[in-house]
Amino acid sequence: MSEAQRQRIVIVGGGTSGWMTAAALAKMLPRHCSIHLVESEAIGIVGVGEATLPHIRAFNERLGIREADFMSWTRATFKLGIEFRDWGRIGDSYVHPFGTFGRGQGEVDFHHYWARLVHAGANPPPLEQFSMACTMARTGKFVPPTTEPGKMTTTFGYAYQFDAVMFAPYLRALAEGLGAVRTEGKVVDVELDGESGDIRAIKLDGGQRIEGDLFVDCSGFRSLLLGEALQEPFQDWSRWLPADRAAAMPCRTETAVTPYTSAIAMPAGWRWRIPLQHRTGNGYVYSSDFVSDDQAAAALVGAVEGEPIAQPRFLRFKAGRRERSWVRNCVAIGLASGFLEPLESTSIYLVQQAITALLELFPGREIVPSDRDEFNRVIDLEYDRIRDFLILHYHATERDDSDFWNYVRTMPIPDSLAEKMELFRRRGRVVKYREGVFLDASWVAVYLGQRVLPAGYDQRADLPSADSLARGMDQLRAEITELARDMPDHLRFIEGYCPMAKAA
Ligand SMILES: Cc1cc2nc3c(=O)[nH]c(=O)nc-3n(C[C@H](O)[C@H](O)[C@H](O)COP(=O)(O)OP(=O)(O)OC[C@H]3O[C@@H](n4cnc5c(N)ncnc54)[C@H](O)[C@@H]3O)c2cc1C
Repeated sequence: MSEAQRQRIVIVGGGTSGWMTAAALAKMLPRHCSIHLVESEAIGIVGVGEATLPHIRAFNERLGIREADFMSWTRATFKLGIEFRDWGRIGDSYVHPFGTFGRGQGEVDFHHYWARLVHAGANPPPLEQFSMACTMARTGKFVPPTTEPGKMTTTFGYAYQFDAVMFAPYLRALAEGLGAVRTEGKVVDVELDGESGDIRAIKLDGGQRIEGDLFVDCSGFRSLLLGEALQEPFQDWSRWLPADRAAAMPCRTETAVTPYTSAIAMPAGWRWRIPLQHRTGNGYVYSSDFVSDDQAAAALVGAVEGEPIAQPRFLRFKAGRRERSWVRNCVAIGLASGFLEPLESTSIYLVQQAITALLELFPGREIVPSDRDEFNRVIDLEYDRIRDFLILHYHATERDDSDFWNYVRTMPIPDSLAEKMELFRRRGRVVKYREGVFLDASWVAVYLGQRVLPAGYDQRADLPSADSLARGMDQLRAEITELARDMPDHLRFIEGYCPMAKAA
């Protein structure tokens, strides 16, 4: 094949998004596409981002990654959901599970039956006791889900908690094995075509000029191509999501290696706790309008449950996204396209969705505007839905113990979220989507976990007699408890399946 026939794809940035993109494109595009990635070790990567969503498993499978090998290399643990502590009120705790409440079958969602018992004054056990994923998380157990129809062991999924610094090199080895080429260097200039406005080439500090047909901007918060060179405006969402900084600090694991991430509310934000095989990741995500860096670092150091193994490291960000992620011949993926704080571990998921949409709409040499528009529609929708879900966590609170909580509790919220909350408050209904990441059980977990109790419920939940409903619910809870009791401990399962690589 002549050079003129080649389709040249240039990726700027070698963090998690750059190498995820390079590996996926190298694996899934035909041979006439060349993949060239440029990164600068001097600039480095963000290097946090330890908690994921279950979708990452499908991404890894498509790349042919062996789970045990990947987990062992990245020192990963399993994640069945997120525990939220102190969000509705100080002392509250609930789990947002990767799985259903009840069996997840039938016409009527399980929480309507539960709400019926609440309204009848029957004082049922907390909803999470009817979730396989929550019960496994609370008891520290793990086995992979099964596939037999009707079994409670089919009702959950799982993700990983891993060392973010180990992920990009793992993908790099894979991408280079598939033919992707890497150049070390700092991009110092971006050359635009005077007529079309497309990006023609990038120039590196050593003088090298790299031409391309399609450019993928994975340059992180700086958004070198999309934001700086093409000047795509940034939609600022910080009025709804005021956290703009994080202090991150790993510690030794001195408490349980939980199969879940914890998000613990703090006076001016929240703190993550992510147990890995070799250490526990911690960080305080906060708003600099309400607390200083020094105060945040001191609060984090005082709160972590193990001996610190590094000083707090500070990161700055702003919630929002570029108006469009694909402009001209440039597609931004990862932090270069936007950022939503890590409360629901959605960044790597957004990278994955952008890669999937790009592959599905992959252009020929000529870029068709309708493909670009469809990509932007899909990605905007993902961002907007996640944004609303995150705002819900802050807004649905009764906390009035700090200026930060008073602000988020009383702030005006987007109409799209106000409508969703109204629908739930009336009859416990969750807006159904065909696209977007968080489905009914996720919204239900947060609403009920943060004391947004519906005034009514689906009338069809009145069909079973009171006796048979109470009996059915008791049996379900007993079945879940028994199944969880017989499962191995999370850490024991890891030791047998994917112990961390000694040389890693
Ligand atoms: C506090 C915090 C916590 C997070 N937690 C999670 C989490 O739990 N789960 C999750 O999914 N995500 C999380 N994220 C997000 C996650 O870290 C990122 O989405 C992910 O790391 C992808 O980053 P990136 O590759 O887009 O950017 P980066 O990691 O910043 O990589 C940018 C790349 O561009 C290169 N580059 C930049 N400028 C130039 C230049 N001029 N020339 C050449 N190369 C250049 C850099 O060298 C680097 O290789 C978190 C983020 C933050 C800030």
